[in-house]
Amino acid sequence: MPVYFQLSVEETLCHLKTRLSGLTDHEVNLRQQEKGYNRLKVRPPVPAWKILLAQFTNFIIYLLLIAVIFSVIIGEYTDSLVILAILLMNGLIGFFQELRANRSLEALKKLVTIEAKVTRNGITAIIDAAELVYGDIIHLENGDKIPADARLISVIELQIEESALTGESEPVRKQLTKIAGEPGPADQSNMVFSATSVVGGRGIAVVTACGMETEIGRISQLVASAEEEKTPLQQRLDRFGKNLGLVIIAICILVFCLCLGRYYLQQTTIHVSAFLEFAFIAISLAVAAVPTALPAVVTIALSIGTRRLLVKNMLVRRLSSVETLGCCDVICSDKTGTLTKNQMTVQRAWTLGGEFDFNHDDIKHRTSINQDLRLLFTIGIACNNSKADFAAGKGGNPTEIALFQAAEIAGVSHNGKRIHERPFDSSRKLMSVVVQEDDHTLLCTKGAPDQLLNHCTDVQIGSEIHPLDDTYRSIILKANQHLGSQALRVMAFAYREADSPDDTQEERLTFIGLQAMIDPPRDDVIDAIRKARSAHIRVIMITGDHRETAKAIAKEIGIDGEMLTGEKINLMTDEEFSQTITRTNIFARVIPEHKQRIVKALQEQGHIVAMTGDGVNDAPALKSADIGIAVGSGTDVAREASDFVLLDDSFSSIVAGVEEGRGIYENIQKSIMLLLSGNLMEVLIILLAVLLGFNLPLTALLLLWVNLITDGAPALAYAVDPYGKNIMQRPPIPISEGILPSKRLRLLIALGFSGSLIGLGLFLLSGGNSNDPIEIQRAQTMVFNYIVLYEMMLVFVIRNNYQVRMLTNSWLWFSVIFSLMMQVLIMYTPLHFIFHVTPLTASEIFELMVATGVFSLICYLFGRDRADGPKTSTSSACQ
Ligand code: ATP
Repeated sequence: MPVYFQLSVEETLCHLKTRLSGLTDHEVNLRQQEKGYNRLKVRPPVPAWKILLAQFTNFIIYLLLIAVIFSVIIGEYTDSLVILAILLMNGLIGFFQELRANRSLEALKKLVTIEAKVTRNGITAIIDAAELVYGDIIHLENGDKIPADARLISVIELQIEESALTGESEPVRKQLTKIAGEPGPADQSNMVFSATSVVGGRGIAVVTACGMETEIGRISQLVASAEEEKTPLQQRLDRFGKNLGLVIIAICILVFCLCLGRYYLQQTTIHVSAFLEFAFIAISLAVAAVPTALPAVVTIALSIGTRRLLVKNMLVRRLSSVETLGCCDVICSDKTGTLTKNQMTVQRAWTLGGEFDFNHDDIKHRTSINQDLRLLFTIGIACNNSKADFAAGKGGNPTEIALFQAAEIAGVSHNGKRIHERPFDSSRKLMSVVVQEDDHTLLCTKGAPDQLLNHCTDVQIGSEIHPLDDTYRSIILKANQHLGSQALRVMAFAYREADSPDDTQEERLTFIGLQAMIDPPRDDVIDAIRKARSAHIRVIMITGDHRETAKAIAKEIGIDGEMLTGEKINLMTDEEFSQTITRTNIFARVIPEHKQRIVKALQEQGHIVAMTGDGVNDAPALKSADIGIAVGSGTDVAREASDFVLLDDSFSSIVAGVEEGRGIYENIQKSIMLLLSGNLMEVLIILLAVLLGFNLPLTALLLLWVNLITDGAPALAYAVDPYGKNIMQRPPIPISEGILPSKRLRLLIALGFSGSLIGLGLFLLSGGNSNDPIEIQRAQTMVFNYIVLYEMMLVFVIRNNYQVRMLTNSWLWFSVIFSLMMQVLIMYTPLHFIFHVTPLTASEIFELMVATGVFSLICYLFGRDRADGPKTSTSSACQ
């Protein structure tokens, strides 16, 4: 392959058989056929057969297979066949669920694509970066992720962050001249590389390598082998599962030894068949105690949750953050575009020589537009990229579009030629261009008034230039403050003769005037802030705008609390800042670097912080926040650093997302409650019976049926349960909390205990302790049916505890009806011979109803004390 950094621009273009106007469609097609898509090879998705196999390669299955062997040895062939059938059914349910969850996650991944701005056939457009081929002419702007390896053709202060490739986080300044020798990628300053990012300036380049042929492609084996991370909840469940496993093994050994001991005392010998029978019971008990459906429940709840979040315009980039959303107690939001509409319209134009009000002054005659205002509007369109952005099929910056429209309304146009640009950046808060106007070369600058004034030495009134003294300065600042206090975003404009075509030194400027634009709050933002407040979530507004504008907008949308400016933050020690932040909800004139300090200070106070961002410099704050949210219209770099992408940029979608996060967590909790209290009850019934010397209330087969078939379906259906009606009136879930809050854990234990006592009582009353095998089978049948009814009742008791309305979630009702029908099938068809149960008579069904009724009453009493009544807010600044 040729070494493009050693070639000149012309040689490179010639070698790649391309031109500045780009490739033709035919050439693109041929090259795509030759080289394929511009994608790195990622690991292929797990094939379906592997997912199916995985269902049969876990500890529980091995245990059950041992049980099958035991039952064959003791001659219970039907039992072994039934266990195998149950195993198969359970495996197939797990397989289909996992397949569904995997598919929806894969579909989500595809949504996160990178785009590229490319010129083909002389037309510049934005396309999916996967479509790029070598020879394509690509345009690079601040915040873009570089889509392929490319040789630069033109640069304007282009700076690239190449740490993904070289490990060096300092941005590299790029240039055009060819380089001799064999430098590594880090020193190839006329090249840009896939997976790195533009952090300043702009440029044009010709693609030299795509997909696996890029530098990053060569080292992509490392990237591709990165394992999917487990979410904190999944990790906690893994740990919990291990501990539970140890307890269960201990209980099973205890039960086994007790059964064996009792048998020995009665028979004074131990037969092999008895030994195997007890081992079989111990294994069944282990299976009964392990909540087998739990891992599937968590995966499915998370994958369904990500789909629900997508409907609410939150695209999940990191699954683990879905859980953290539910714990979020501070949302730090950018003002422009997230709290406001980002639809700017210039309302007022102000110069020292006269003003213009777009709402009141008669625009038709344009009599009031004097020379100063003309110059003001002219700088507004000269120092403006919106027209070029539009031509390139890009939306354009709303602030600049507004300036363009204002000039158009005022009848001002500009035909000068731009020869140089110093792009806007939010730390300088300025943008400059050098333009050729007839025989003048002018430097035009626009930006934040307080910043720009620091770079001005003169003011212009009419055709007169005056030094910018304190009097003028205070008049200008007063006008700025006055406009800002009306919630207007104010920009200042200045210019001077340029010393050379590339003179972008923002100094010795002549101040011309101000333009003030309105950016109305989003329609739903006031409600969303109210909702956040009732959910005990503090909302902090962060803006690069002026303090007066920030204060006025905050008041309009209902954010109160103190205000702090970036300037003051710079003067504070960490300790002072930490104290002030407890009272501060409005941050004005901040630069992205301040955001990281804000996140850190809040986190040190124990808050779980969500932070929005759009620019390159926001990336560190997005990374360090607990929940980094990139706005959809933001840069690739911000998106890469974030956990979520806010597709519609709207604040209310964040609040809706938090609601989803809480809901997903609650649904997982519900499943855990159902599975664990059911399992606890079954284990206790067996354990207590063995300890108290009773006959066994359940056979191994019945235990397996209840645990693997009956409760799994409703537990899975919880994943699509609607959320409790008070979900946004409660404080966030503390991050340090276990899988279940202690009150709910107590409820779970109480339900398990009371359920098992009633079950044992029913067993004894139904003759379970007699010596007649028929009587014992009848009593076991009663307990078996009682457990199923108990679990079905529990499904609704738990929902009630989470304040979910009864007649919702048809999947849940369907799963309950399905479980009950399966029960009828076992009881009243010849299957009852296989399961060794006796069909119940009417009076027995009545007794069963009474037992379940007593349990329901107990549930009602326990459930009345809702596990999470509203608490008072935690911080003084929580609104
Ligand atoms: P947010 O509220 O999301 O932080 P912001 O637009 O208020 O967004 P910045 O984009 O950092 O914050 O802008 C800060 C200031 O820089 C603005 O108040 C404005 O005065 C100035 N500014 C914004 N856009 C431009 C631009 N394109 N050219 C020159 N100056 C700009």
